[in-house]
Amino acid sequence: MARYTGSVCRLCRRENMKLFLKGDRCYSDKCAFDRRGYPPGQHGERRGRKVSDYGIQLREKQKVKRMYGLTEKQFRLFFQRANRQKGVTGTNLLVMLERRLDNVVYRMGFVNSRTQGRHFVRHSHFTVNGRKVNIPSYLIRPGDAVEVREKSRAVQSIGDALEAVVRRGVPQWIELEKDNFKGIVQSLPVREDLTMPIQEQLIVELYTK
Ligand code: SF4
Repeated sequence: MARYTGSVCRLCRRENMKLFLKGDRCYSDKCAFDRRGYPPGQHGERRGRKVSDYGIQLREKQKVKRMYGLTEKQFRLFFQRANRQKGVTGTNLLVMLERRLDNVVYRMGFVNSRTQGRHFVRHSHFTVNGRKVNIPSYLIRPGDAVEVREKSRAVQSIGDALEAVVRRGVPQWIELEKDNFKGIVQSLPVREDLTMPIQEQLIVELYTK
């Protein structure tokens, strides 16, 4: 299925939580979810509809998929890889999603959203351990150093995002050297580091039916 190109704020309202897809706007009083926290559409304000188990599982999967900006095919491939790994599949999935380079540059504060992260990675604004990487799905490893390339340090939106990172905070598995435009992945995140309200076991149940 093709990538969604409609209003991303509708996705937050549909999933009934802030997915932080629009950078700075998500932290402002212009946030559509804060203003209209009910599902979009003609019957959006209608409450109390009974949702099946399948519906609950589906919504959880859609939520995470949309949060990381993936297509169904990409998300399913990630799930299959997570399922082949040792350990708890749901946790493996979330950790692997966090390891994506487009997510890591977002977590480091070089960009304002994962969508922007994906664009900027594709446009070769970053290096990993000194080598140019332009693949958004590239999986970082512990000890990797991600840097904004010398020629990209003057890009206004990268500077703005770095200023805004103070508000968002940097997760403890990342060490940010803001003045050097550099972040180091100290370790892989563990489940406790991932504070978004996600019930990943519902996604496992959905895909392993
Ligand atoms: Fe979601 Fe951000 Fe839009 Fe708010 S502003 S509804 S958090 S994408």
